Amino acid sequence: MGMRAGETGGRSGTKGGSSGVTRRRALWIGGGAVAAGAAALAGRDELAHWWWRLPGHDKPRTPGAVDHPGAQWVEASPENYRRADRPADYEIDRVVVHVVQGSFATALEVFQDPDHEAAAHYVVRKDGHIAQMIRELDVAFHAGNRGYNERSVGIEHEGFVDRPESFTAAMYASSARLTAEICRRYGFPADREHIVGHVEVPGTDHTDPGPHWDWDRYLRLVRAELRKPVRPKRHKPARES
Ligand SMILES: [Zn+2]
Repeated sequence: MGMRAGETGGRSGTKGGSSGVTRRRALWIGGGAVAAGAAALAGRDELAHWWWRLPGHDKPRTPGAVDHPGAQWVEASPENYRRADRPADYEIDRVVVHVVQGSFATALEVFQDPDHEAAAHYVVRKDGHIAQMIRELDVAFHAGNRGYNERSVGIEHEGFVDRPESFTAAMYASSARLTAEICRRYGFPADREHIVGHVEVPGTDHTDPGPHWDWDRYLRLVRAELRKPVRPKRHKPARES
């Protein structure tokens, strides 16, 4: 069924051999780890949701539910991701920025194609509209590196790496809000170590988001979002609506 290929394959074509290492972590074993985890999370203003990180809690999955409020749900083919229970089974500490090399519609189409062997969690359109195609609970095949797939959320952006006009103000703003929420949700810093381009993923042969993606601008926007007060509605992980 192409799952293995999907783990290592890029968006266009499959790259042999995984340079990633399975990073399944035995987290939260024993009450001490749980207590320590809860304390750490309290420091991140997420105490109310500490239980959500525990394994054995079946996260609620309502058909059509999204992790990013306001996103349009368009389900990717199950062949293009692996069902998981993140962040209980795999810690999330990366956002991977992609550029589609095509339109928003093209991304939605290919990610629904079971033969594509790749898909990202989100696709951002030029006007800032966002589609979510895979739940953050699940491992999307987007980075071409198994370890990075397991630890990251993948965000695709409509457009082309060699066309600077692809990257609009509306797109940057909307994507930055999404990335800021992800940083907040999983408690990792908004910096270039944790917010990376596909090109920076070890072992990849992809070049996106390319030289015209304005990292300084993007990081500024993400950090500005994180300085805004948290709205309770947006703070709930895996909010079902
Ligand atoms: Zn990419």
